[in-house]
Amino acid sequence: MPDKRVAILGATGVVGTQMLQCLEERDFPVGELVPLASARSAGSSVRFRGEEVVVREATPEAFEGVDVVLGAAGDELARKLLPEAVRRGATCVDNSHAFRLDEDVPLVIPEINADDVSWHHGIIANPNCATIIGLVPLWPLHQEAGIRRLVVSTYQAASGAGMPGLRELEREMGVVAQGGEMGPTDPFAYQLAANLIPQIGGFKEEGYTSEELKMQNEGRKIMHLPELRVSCTCVRVPVMRSHSESITVEFERPLALDRARELLEAAPGVLVVDEPSELRYPMPLQSSDQDLVWVGRIRRDLSAPDGVSSLCLWCCGDQIRKGAATNAVQIAEFLL
Ligand code: NAP
Repeated sequence: MPDKRVAILGATGVVGTQMLQCLEERDFPVGELVPLASARSAGSSVRFRGEEVVVREATPEAFEGVDVVLGAAGDELARKLLPEAVRRGATCVDNSHAFRLDEDVPLVIPEINADDVSWHHGIIANPNCATIIGLVPLWPLHQEAGIRRLVVSTYQAASGAGMPGLRELEREMGVVAQGGEMGPTDPFAYQLAANLIPQIGGFKEEGYTSEELKMQNEGRKIMHLPELRVSCTCVRVPVMRSHSESITVEFERPLALDRARELLEAAPGVLVVDEPSELRYPMPLQSSDQDLVWVGRIRRDLSAPDGVSSLCLWCCGDQIRKGAATNAVQIAEFLL
C-alpha cells in the first residue's frame, strides 16, 4: 500500500494530539505528516514517530498534495477549509459537528455502519463522542431485539471541551485544594471542580441542549433508524477524560439479560465489566487511554410494564480515543 500524505487539521488540540498517537499505534501508512493549526501555533512542532514535525498554519494551500485529512478543529474552520481540501483531491474524516447531518456526508461508527463509507463525496463525519460511546454497545442489542426508545444520562469529562477544558479543570482543582472558590470560568459556565454542570451546548427546542439532541439525530442516521426516540440529559463532570453513560433501552422484542450479556461479550469494541459482587463495574479512570467501551451494571428495567423488553446498563469510554481520534483513524483505514 503506497504511503499517504496525511494532514491533521487541529494537530495541537486534544483530539489532534491523540490522532498522532493513534496513527502511530495502528501503523497507518503515513508517508508524510502535515500538522496544521492556527497562526498562533505555526512554527511550533508535534512529535510523530520519534521526530519533531513543524506545525503549519491551516490555509487552503496547505492541503495541496494531501491524500487524507483528519479534521480535529471546530465547526467554523471545518466548514471553511475541508471543502478546499476536497477540491484539491483529499478525502477528509472530520470530527466537528459541521457536516454530520448533511445528506451527502456519511456519519460512521465502523462497528455499526462501515459500509456507509463507500458513498462518500470527499467528506466523512465522525459522530459526537457521547453518541459513539453509547451506540457501540447498543448496536449488538439492537440487531437482536430492535431498539425502540432510549433514556440516557451522560457524565461527560472536562476534556470533551478540548484543551481549554482540560487545563481549566486542572487549574480549578488546584484552587479548590487551596480552599479557594471561583465565579464563572471559561470554557465552562460555572466552576466545574467539586461541582456538576447540567448543560453542554446551547439550549434548543423543548428545553434540550444541542449536545442532548445529537444522540437522537445522529443515532437515527448511523443506525438507519429514522423513528428512533431518545431522551437525553448531558452533564459535565469534574473528570479529566472518558465519558460515562447511564442508559435505559426499550426494545421491540423481549431480550433476556443472559442473552444481552452474551451479545455484549461477543461485540467488537466492547468490554463487559459486570461483577457487582466483586465491586467490578466500568469507571472513567479505568476506561481512559484505551479504545474499548466498558459496559456493566446490566440489569432489568424495573419500571418496564412487561419486565422483559427493556434493560438498564452503564458504560464508560475514552471520548478522545474511541469518541474521536480512534474512530476517525478506523474510518481512514476503511478508505484505504
Ligand atoms: P482543542 O483541544 O481546543 O483543539 C482545537 C484545535 O483547532 C487546535 O489544534 C487549534 O490550534 C486549532 N484551531 C483553533 N482555531 C484555529 C484557527 N483559526 N485556524 C487553525 N486552527 C485552529 O479542541 P478538541 O477538543 O481537540 O476538538 C477538536 C474537534 O473535535 C472539535 O470540533 C470538537 O467538537 C471535536 N471533538 C472533540 C472531542 C473531545 O473529547 N475533545 C470529542 C469528539 C469530537 P491552536 O493550538 O493553534 O489554537
